[in-house]
Amino acid sequence: MTDQNKQNSSTVKPSSAADVSSILRHFSKIWELDGDLLRCKSCKNAIVISRINEQFKHKDDCKNNPFLSINPWVILKDLLESC
Ligand SMILES: [Zn+2]
Repeated sequence: MTDQNKQNSSTVKPSSAADVSSILRHFSKIWELDGDLLRCKSCKNAIVISRINEQFKHKDDCKNNPFLSINPWVILKDLLESC
C-alpha cells in the first residue's frame, strides 16, 4: 500500500483573497515566523529563508509529520505570489 501521492495535495493554489486568508490562518497554526526562520510549532525545528530550496525535516515524533519534507517557505511564497 503506497500512499505517497498525498504529499502533493498540500500544494493548493488559492483562487481568491478569501482562500489566501484561510490558508494563511491554517499555515500560522503550524508554523511561526522567528526573524528569518520559519519554525514548526510542534517539534520546534526551523529553517532559514536562504534554504528555501531544501527539504524540511520535522522531528520523528512531530504531529505535523504529514507535512514532512515540504519547505514552509515554498508554501508561503506560493501563497504570497497568488495575491
Ligand atoms: Zn514539526
